[in-house]
Amino acid sequence: MASMVYLVGAGPGDPGLVTVKGLELIKKADCIIYDRLSSPELLGYAGMDCERIYVGKADRHHTLPQEQINELLVEKAKEYHCVVRLKGGDVFVFGRGGEEGLYLREHGISYTVVPGVTSAIAGPAYAGIPVTHRGVATSFRVITGHQKNGEDLSEPDFTTMSDSKETLIFLMGLSRVRQIVDGLMQAGRNRQTPAAVISHATTEAQEICEGTLENLADRVEEAKLTSPALIIVGDVVALRRQLHFFEEKPLWGKHYLVAKIGPKPSRLAAMLRAKGAYTSECMTGEIVGVPAVYTAQELAHVDVLLFTSANGVDYFMKNVFASGLDARALFHTRCAVIGQKTAEKLREYGICADFMPEHSNSTNLAQELKEYLDQEFRGDPFKRAVIWYPTAKNAKDNLVDTLLSFCDCGRLNVYENVPCPMEVPVDKDVYDAIFFTCASSAERMLGSLKPQERETLASVTDIYSIGPKCSAALGELGVSPVIEAAVNTYEGLVNCVLRKE
Ligand code: SAH
Repeated sequence: MASMVYLVGAGPGDPGLVTVKGLELIKKADCIIYDRLSSPELLGYAGMDCERIYVGKADRHHTLPQEQINELLVEKAKEYHCVVRLKGGDVFVFGRGGEEGLYLREHGISYTVVPGVTSAIAGPAYAGIPVTHRGVATSFRVITGHQKNGEDLSEPDFTTMSDSKETLIFLMGLSRVRQIVDGLMQAGRNRQTPAAVISHATTEAQEICEGTLENLADRVEEAKLTSPALIIVGDVVALRRQLHFFEEKPLWGKHYLVAKIGPKPSRLAAMLRAKGAYTSECMTGEIVGVPAVYTAQELAHVDVLLFTSANGVDYFMKNVFASGLDARALFHTRCAVIGQKTAEKLREYGICADFMPEHSNSTNLAQELKEYLDQEFRGDPFKRAVIWYPTAKNAKDNLVDTLLSFCDCGRLNVYENVPCPMEVPVDKDVYDAIFFTCASSAERMLGSLKPQERETLASVTDIYSIGPKCSAALGELGVSPVIEAAVNTYEGLVNCVLRKE
């Protein structure tokens, strides 16, 4: 089949602003060529085997010159079936997507454009500024703040920008705010016209500096805003007072580090971001399956399958399928789960959980499971139930020992959590809090620090733990105090943070 290059707009920064079509292509791409402005979280959706190439195009300093990016696209189109060229915002709004399209066409390569949400409109929107507004602005114009004319930078033609009913949006203009506002005032735009610079728009690092044409340049210098940033000029800017919404979230201004297993974007981090926090994710390990073969006969002897994680369900079922069986081999087996998420995962395989403890922790689980089994096997008081417990190979838990006191329990290693190199430095001055959702992450991330460093870290940074096992691991490392979620789920953790902040 012929290959296709997709020029995909990644949106302005908030990963949620990618289009459905764009995200589907990211998931199925064989190769993604991306630049600095596309949201890094989006790459987490790419497949394991997808080749990711960073061509780091920031305004004015190109890591890879445009000609070489063009050639790279052609080269990769020859190598792969589905190549995604991921660009910040929209591909055709100062994105040089047109040049890439022309080059591909010249070389006989098919391409498709997936437009994106441009920062020129979404940036102001997240700042509470509509680019048009009845009675205030009847048009808007998107202008480049630095125009290249050969080797010289030339000014935009400000004489055409004096209409007070036109909103002006300058991209790539942060270093030229003063020249831009001066040019507009000289062209006759009222000195009191509201204007703002929005940096890192639509992300949790969004910062806004507001003023008028007269004082904006000074204020921006003082605020030390960093790129990417856009400048917006016009009476619509004043509407922000009533329309702003983004900075009102409860965790706004907080920077959290979230430990995770596997390359997928962390669900917990996304939940914290939804409340306004800025998050960094640190992958401490990966899940790999431990293959095993089961027979229908041995499964027929199992009274209860006990699952304490969604991974346990997935990798057990994987082995069931690999053994040439399916859910029907479990028709007589009762299924016990630790909590709602595991129950939902089991349902995906067409199986409803028969038992779930009132509180999702192992102490309750063992106690309530015993009561459940006493009830179930009432008619046969001498019966010792046979329980299979598919779990992680290296997980430390004493659940099996507890269960063995009243049933025959066999632990099945169906997956393994293997460490991976970590790239995020655990610096005490950077994060307001660090989140751990499993003991292994805590050990891997903090184990390499000196005891003194761990102590200092915990004294200035909040350390959150999802539950007792994770807290115990942190305790063993001498990390204290630890804030443990009252309900041992991601939702429980987020509620815990909201209560504290
Ligand atoms: N194709 C992009 C624009 C690329 S030009 C789009 O449609 O958004 C790069 C410029 O876009 C930056 O210099 C900056 O002015 C603007 N920009 C991109 N992302 C931004 C963001 N998150 N916040 C503010 N400005 C942004």
